[in-house]
Amino acid sequence: MTSVLYTVDGRVVPPRELVRTANGWAEPVPVRCPAGHPLRSGRTLVGWIPCLAPGRTGHRTHQCECRQIVCTPEPDDACSCQLGQVNGRKV
Ligand SMILES: [Zn+2]
Ligand SMILES: [Zn+2]
Repeated sequence: MTSVLYTVDGRVVPPRELVRTANGWAEPVPVRCPAGHPLRSGRTLVGWIPCLAPGRTGHRTHQCECRQIVCTPEPDDACSCQLGQVNGRKV
């Protein structure tokens, strides 16, 4: 399994928790796509897919230029989310 690092302001953080920063709460952002490319600001499509699994509202998605997607949290047996339908916007 590929493990993806997440950071806020350059600090490595757990993927699922908001992190307190000087500017308020920030969402952890994956550093690299599954193929190892750096996910750079302005070249990454950030999206959201709704999820029907109990206790979960959806998955944050970051799509690399190579079209590989980092999904947070990862889809698992509790849901049947498909990553083929991700729509995102550049940030
Ligand atoms: Zn899901
Ligand atoms: Zn990539």
